[in-house]
Amino acid sequence: MKFKRSEALFEEAQKYLPGGVDSPVRAFKSVGGIPPFMVKGKGSKIYDVDGNEFIDYICSWGPLILGHSHPQVLDAIKRVAELGTSFGAPTELEITLAKMVTTAIPSIEMVRFVNSGTEATMTALRLARAYTEKDKVVKFAGGYHGHADGLLVKGGSGMATLSLPNCPGVPTKYAENTLVASYNDAQSVAKLFESYPKEIAAVIVEPIAANMGLIPPQPAFLESLRSITRENGALLIFDEVISGFRVNYGGAQALYDITPDLTCLGKIIGGGLPIGAYGGKREIMSMIAPAGPVYQAGTLSGNPLAVTAGIETLNVLSQPGVYEQLERTTSLLEAGIRKAISSLNMKIQVSRLASLLTIFFTDNLLTDYDSVSGADTDLFGRFHQQLLKKGIYWPPSQFEAAFISLAHSKEDIQTTIDKISEALSYIMR
Ligand SMILES: *Cc1c(COP(=O)(O)O)cnc(C)c1O
Repeated sequence: MKFKRSEALFEEAQKYLPGGVDSPVRAFKSVGGIPPFMVKGKGSKIYDVDGNEFIDYICSWGPLILGHSHPQVLDAIKRVAELGTSFGAPTELEITLAKMVTTAIPSIEMVRFVNSGTEATMTALRLARAYTEKDKVVKFAGGYHGHADGLLVKGGSGMATLSLPNCPGVPTKYAENTLVASYNDAQSVAKLFESYPKEIAAVIVEPIAANMGLIPPQPAFLESLRSITRENGALLIFDEVISGFRVNYGGAQALYDITPDLTCLGKIIGGGLPIGAYGGKREIMSMIAPAGPVYQAGTLSGNPLAVTAGIETLNVLSQPGVYEQLERTTSLLEAGIRKAISSLNMKIQVSRLASLLTIFFTDNLLTDYDSVSGADTDLFGRFHQQLLKKGIYWPPSQFEAAFISLAHSKEDIQTTIDKISEALSYIMR
């Protein structure tokens, strides 16, 4: 496989775009090599400027659960585009998508559409602070909620007093309002509520952690978050930007039967176009302007193209058998990888839930950020380079999940298992 055109474009891109990209992980920094520049996607496949074809396990980082260029989505986008691309005025389409979202996820009684997951989480926290009249929020180490200032804090696991921003440009004074707990550790959250009684507005969590690699929640963990927030007059915010409409039609909250106060969505609900959303109890959401005093606005919010792509994507996802198909496809992949691993003497494990999967290069018990951060990222980098050469477009970081779509066929999965097996044997040598 040759990457000549991509190499030249990456050189040129770096003259005009910081790092040559518009979002850091795309630059392949943590795995080495250069990122292929893409021109086309169809079904489970993605094609680069050098004419290489890959089976795509990034799927735009989650939105493309139907695969690339799904005909029903594309046709609808084209039809709506003919009528105009943006009005900055209300449309009936927004009511349609809002009804679909509130029906699928009953804890969302009202919803506001924005342009990204970042906007959704940022505003959900503003709203939680306004509603509770408290300033501090709790997040988890290794949890990613977009790049709003107050959320770029990782901290040392559970070390409330050391909430230093891990990004220059975020004022320390501001970061101090973000407390960091460790995932799957209810005790670390309880300690924060003890240290800061009456100061915590909200706990924000990815109910299924997928931004430190995939780490499913332990059964009692999410329940403990529900009860401790309720007891302390804080809101529970589920960041379901990945898990929403991914693990099933009702998201992680349906899977684990937990009702958060606010939910953030993104990715899938835009069907591959830019979108985000936050929603929850009517009483809380009524504080959002112009219904209430909490300001949040957006020139392109509720954009007709994005909303249409979302509606069509949800139309497909609401059909019977869809999530069962995703489960079958992904369990096939999981089983194949497990088999490949079992024949090798390597410290590797597979973490999988629904159509999310991470291959971890560590034998640590995987529960939180500390346990994954010991993974062998060099070995992962070599693994990734091998896969890319073999036509498998795998997430270019140890700490990301692979996304499986409805377009992935049995043949795609078998090819992938073979290539993963070859890649693992190669890097073993
Ligand atoms: C992707 C992601 C976000 C941010 O969404 P953007 O649209 O990239 O701003 C927030 N939370 C989670 C859990 C995500 O995976």
